Amino acid sequence: MADVLVVGELKNGELKKISKELTSAARKIADSIGGKVHTVVITENVDAFAGDLKAVGADTVIGANLGEFSPEGYANGIFAIIQEKKPAVVLIPHSAQGKEYSARVAIKANAGIVADAVGLSVDGGKVVAKKPIYSGKAYANFKVTSDIQIFTVRANSQEVTPKDGAGAVEKSGAAAGEVRTKSISKDLSGGNKVQLADASIIVSGGRGIKGPENWPIIQDLADTLGAALGASRATVDAGWISHSHQVGQTGKTVSPNCYIACGISGAIQHLAGMGSSKYIVAINKDGDAPIFKVATYGVVADLFEVVPALTSEFKKVLG
Ligand SMILES: Cc1cc2nc3c(=O)[nH]c(=O)nc-3n(C[C@H](O)[C@H](O)[C@H](O)COP(=O)(O)OP(=O)(O)OC[C@H]3O[C@@H](n4cnc5c(N)ncnc54)[C@H](O)[C@@H]3O)c2cc1C
Repeated sequence: MADVLVVGELKNGELKKISKELTSAARKIADSIGGKVHTVVITENVDAFAGDLKAVGADTVIGANLGEFSPEGYANGIFAIIQEKKPAVVLIPHSAQGKEYSARVAIKANAGIVADAVGLSVDGGKVVAKKPIYSGKAYANFKVTSDIQIFTVRANSQEVTPKDGAGAVEKSGAAAGEVRTKSISKDLSGGNKVQLADASIIVSGGRGIKGPENWPIIQDLADTLGAALGASRATVDAGWISHSHQVGQTGKTVSPNCYIACGISGAIQHLAGMGSSKYIVAINKDGDAPIFKVATYGVVADLFEVVPALTSEFKKVLG
């Protein structure tokens, strides 16, 4: 019992990057503890994803048809696959869906679970998960002491490293089983714009943008970079933008490669949602703003001058 099972995720029929991130992380863990990597994709069409997952370390790519998403159905199906494969470690995306079903899987498997890991390593044959605590003010390391160790892992926290696995394709007979809740309608906000949780670049605006009429300045930079648009709570509370854009303790937790904060002071509740970003760029006219304590690059200037200038330069370079 040294295998690692990953639950991948699709969006609009495409493999989400987190599926490769977790498979790659699983490969490193499995190589360390001497096991295999199984990546589950909830789909009828597993062959379409097998190549991509094999290339980052999957020994088996398992297709499971669990129907439309429901926390109960996914937990039932994933638990059935756990019973069959008997993994030592299970990695689940810390996504909206993963957060909904992972605890159910842990209960069914009688396993300990650590949520929102941003670092994974191995010590003494057990996985060590690093995760933010106290709203991101500090990090702590955790081990799970049960036989099955379950972790939900934050998007963009794991490197994707090419390394071929065996890549065998399996179609699982696991089923959603009895599902006692039913989705009766959906309200999908955000249109075709880049979604915050998946974005590798986020451009966010705060109260420093002065009013909702100035979002186009921030959005223009975001569009130029192929980035998602984020916001501080001050702008959401003021009614300048919908809550779906809010980053922070009471909004979304994000971990992009690059987070560009424009006119955001850097309150602890905002940092809780973006402090694990790889590079943080802060544009603020107050050189004492707390955001500069976490910024990789800081620009002490008026955003109304700097942001359009940045957009124009990026447009020249990126076309
Ligand atoms: C329980 C709780 C939960 C919370 N959850 C969240 C959360 O999830 N997310 C969140 O963001 N906040 C959250 N908050 C609110 C948080 O404490 C701050 O009030 C909020 O983040 C401030 O938003 P801001 O940085 O946009 O505004 P401000 O703090 O007002 O900062 C605006 C910044 O813009 C700068 N600025 C002004 N004009 C310009 C200009 N022309 N050019 C450049 N810079 C300029 C100013 O120097 C200032 O630093 C929460 C608070 C509580 C109590």
